[in-house]
Amino acid sequence: MVENRVAVVTGASRGIGRAIALRLAEDGYDIAFCYRSNAEEARVVAEAIEKAGVRCYQAACDVADADAVESFVKAAQDALGPVDVLVNSAGIVRDNPLVIMPVEDWNAVVATNLGGTFNFSRCAAFGFMKRKAGVIVNVSSVAGVYGNATQTNYSASKAGVNMLTKSLSRELGPYGIRVNAVAPGFIETDMTDRLPEKARKSASGMIPMRRFGDVEDVAELVSFLVSQKASYITGQVIQVDGGISL
Ligand code: NAD
Repeated sequence: MVENRVAVVTGASRGIGRAIALRLAEDGYDIAFCYRSNAEEARVVAEAIEKAGVRCYQAACDVADADAVESFVKAAQDALGPVDVLVNSAGIVRDNPLVIMPVEDWNAVVATNLGGTFNFSRCAAFGFMKRKAGVIVNVSSVAGVYGNATQTNYSASKAGVNMLTKSLSRELGPYGIRVNAVAPGFIETDMTDRLPEKARKSASGMIPMRRFGDVEDVAELVSFLVSQKASYITGQVIQVDGGISL
């Protein structure tokens, strides 16, 4: 158990972000989290976090909006103290073949997935550098490693996250700060619930483990990566995908 340490998790009102926030709360971190719009969902998550015996600050904040992110991080620090851990999990998909992909969908996906990771990392990194400590974990995707048809926007944004991760780990390593990414395959969340049954079946057939992953599979890896047990691991993109990319 850690004590008096603060973790910021973006996009934690549901799905993978929620599981990460709950897992880090169990590890003893006070949690600050943001979400896009569903305040009721967020309230329920905050209650569950506080039940673990830690403090929680939560607010709606669009990760793509640099000013909003700055205000969120300041308010979170005022409420809980300096941030020790940042997990960038907020992300969206807007799938379509490239030729009919609306420009807004390209922009929204890149601004949220890549821009959001940049905005939060930029706000957190300054404090990390001053204190010569801190850990960042970015939630990427196997789509950002191998690419995926109809996901040019999503795959490009996640490939960007992977390179942001590697570049930032080189930049911040000398300050004792680690930066890694986790790249999930198919995980059971609202994001994959939208898949038609036929697509789910064919996807499961391609996974050596023959099932979609659980959000806890990802949260467990994040819990390890932010801990002292991973103190010599940085700049990595670690896949948690049931072997789909083999
Ligand atoms: P989800 O749709 O269930 O939840 C997304 C969360 O992000 C929500 O809390 C939502 O409020 C928040 N969010 C979305 N846009 C936001 C914005 N602009 N500002 C602030 N918050 C925002 O998604 P999920 O499946 O839990 O995905 C979480 C992360 O994992 C994403 O980055 C996603 O790309 C990645 N991922 C998911 C899968 C999967 O199979 N589910 C696979 C690979 C990667």
